[in-house]
Amino acid sequence: MRSITVVGASLAGLSAARALREQSFDGRIVLVGAEQHRPYDRPPLSKEFLAGTMSADDLDLATPDDDALGFDWRLGRRAVALEPSGAAVVLDTGERIVSDGVVIATGAVARTLPGPRVHTLRTLDDAIALRAELTPGARLVLVGAGFIGAEIASTAASLGVEVTLVEALPTPLAGPLGVEMGRVCATLHGEHGVRLIVGVGVDAVLGDRRVRLTDGRELAADVVVAGIGAVPAVDWLADSGLRLDNGVLTDADCATNLPGVVAVGDCAHSYRPHLAGIHRFEHWTNALQQPAIAAATLLGRSYQPPASHTVPYFWSDQYGLKLQFAGHRRDGDQVEVVERDTDSRSFLAVYRRDGRPVAVFAINRPRPFARWRRELATHDVSYERCQS
Ligand code: FAD
Repeated sequence: MRSITVVGASLAGLSAARALREQSFDGRIVLVGAEQHRPYDRPPLSKEFLAGTMSADDLDLATPDDDALGFDWRLGRRAVALEPSGAAVVLDTGERIVSDGVVIATGAVARTLPGPRVHTLRTLDDAIALRAELTPGARLVLVGAGFIGAEIASTAASLGVEVTLVEALPTPLAGPLGVEMGRVCATLHGEHGVRLIVGVGVDAVLGDRRVRLTDGRELAADVVVAGIGAVPAVDWLADSGLRLDNGVLTDADCATNLPGVVAVGDCAHSYRPHLAGIHRFEHWTNALQQPAIAAATLLGRSYQPPASHTVPYFWSDQYGLKLQFAGHRRDGDQVEVVERDTDSRSFLAVYRRDGRPVAVFAINRPRPFARWRRELATHDVSYERCQS
């Protein structure tokens, strides 16, 4: 292998390029990124950057060490096709980049709602545009109380914005956390002056600063944000011959059905042996860790990820609290709070399946959480394999 094209110049793409060098690949690496910006970190976009306590420079993912790795950057260039042989990536400029291997790391794009001036929050440019409108006293209607919606609500409230959060489900975050823990998180909004409306959808975002709900109610809104999830950015691969299903389908080694083509990060719907199934994660840690596997696959090397990498992990910061989750929850798992401070919002809960721990959720409990996360890493692998 003498040349590799990485499509998507964000966390997963940059991590793949670095991993290729770490695994001694000294050929040409072209990094193609649709955004003009050099790789930057997304989690602060809904937190410190939106709050104005972090600058765009603080978000830089690339370090001076990356300059020595000799990447051939194509920023502000969008890949529009992957030729079915997998050998060439075609850019919106017409340039055709031929290489021996391709890493697909195009992430996800935010879902939006029809209507005038509806914000989404996925990119730095989105965050800059939203930040400009979050002025004290402005009325913000946030559609969707998932993690991003909850973080925007928290940040906006801290800026003196009047926030209403509208969630179609009866309990926010019931999908990832289950109903019990979802309810706990829901109470945080009210405690911080955010109005939460659940079990009702948005019928229309109207032109005159109003949002109409499906039950007929209307909300005044100077600013509207759709926080209704993201979809994998794989439209450009429609004619590539790649198997697509909620992202690019890959095996456990990130290999796709096309030889020499791997996929990583938010756009990859990958087989996870320790979970005995295919999963697409929109987690920062997955986008950081998975590329080492893909690099080894392209280079024909064997790579055994550390056991700790087999446990899905994400965090969220809301209202000054650190929420952390590790493992994989399913409906029917039993959740129990095993540690709690009586006088503060600090606890750790363990999810069990057939009596065995499979996931852990904590608010402001980083040390015991880290211990449980390590424990799950040794436990999960053997348990899930036994079940498959
Ligand atoms: P992305 O970061 O989406 O990058 C994909 C890149 O590919 C983009 O730059 C895109 O422009 C580019 N691209 C797309 N299509 C093309 C194309 N055709 N040609 C060229 N380039 C293309 N995770 C957590 O675990 N904890 C958090 O607290 C957290 N907070 C978050 C807050 C926000 C606001 C957001 C948006 C995400 C957050 N995440 C969080 C998720 C985490 O940031 C993502 O999992 C991570 O960014 C995924 O990295 P990625 O490189 O796979 O995809």
